[in-house]
Amino acid sequence: MTKLFEPIGCRVDLSTGAMGNATGSYQKRFRDLDGLYEDAAAFEAMRGEWGDRIVYEVSEFRPREAAGDLIFGVTRMLPGKVGDEYFMTRGHIHKQADRPEIYYGQKGEGLMLMESPEGETRVVEVGEQTVCYVPPYWIHRSVNVGDSELVMLFCYPADSGQDYAIIANAGGMRSRIVATGDGGWKQVDNARWQARDAATLAGIYAQPTTGKAA
Ligand code: ZN
Repeated sequence: MTKLFEPIGCRVDLSTGAMGNATGSYQKRFRDLDGLYEDAAAFEAMRGEWGDRIVYEVSEFRPREAAGDLIFGVTRMLPGKVGDEYFMTRGHIHKQADRPEIYYGQKGEGLMLMESPEGETRVVEVGEQTVCYVPPYWIHRSVNVGDSELVMLFCYPADSGQDYAIIANAGGMRSRIVATGDGGWKQVDNARWQARDAATLAGIYAQPTTGKAA
């Protein structure tokens, strides 16, 4: 007889971003985000006060990594800026690049910044009670453009995996999200961004679609 996985409920604490019954968690401190932001001098100036502080953390429920299962969890990010650039996650593409993801805004004002392998950019605002669909093949990063914590639930196929190097190898994402004078946000070009070559693109689109664990 097949042994079934035990059903479970995971309560989200919006004040802490923690999720009950999580199987794992990780934290990113300010100093872990060196090199992410345009304004390196502003980053250095903040390091003394901010270096050890947790900028974002993730608690997740990861039943298995088998194809067909799901991983879900909650991400919580502090508000803030480095220079005029809003706090953000490192971002990634799924190692199995055809795997999608859902984000659900629970608290705060967020953006999902997405980039196709060819370098097209999309931004979806993820406010409270907004579901954002990240389709297969889109590189994605969340950005906190509000003045309070951003809490979002996420869910993706368990065999997706994450590839962070795709962003670093291109000099960052093509767009940066910066503050406007009136407290809003705008998208600006990242001057360091470099287009991916044909071989890299072919590698992304040649990802196997079934059966391989991340
Ligand atoms: Zn993802």
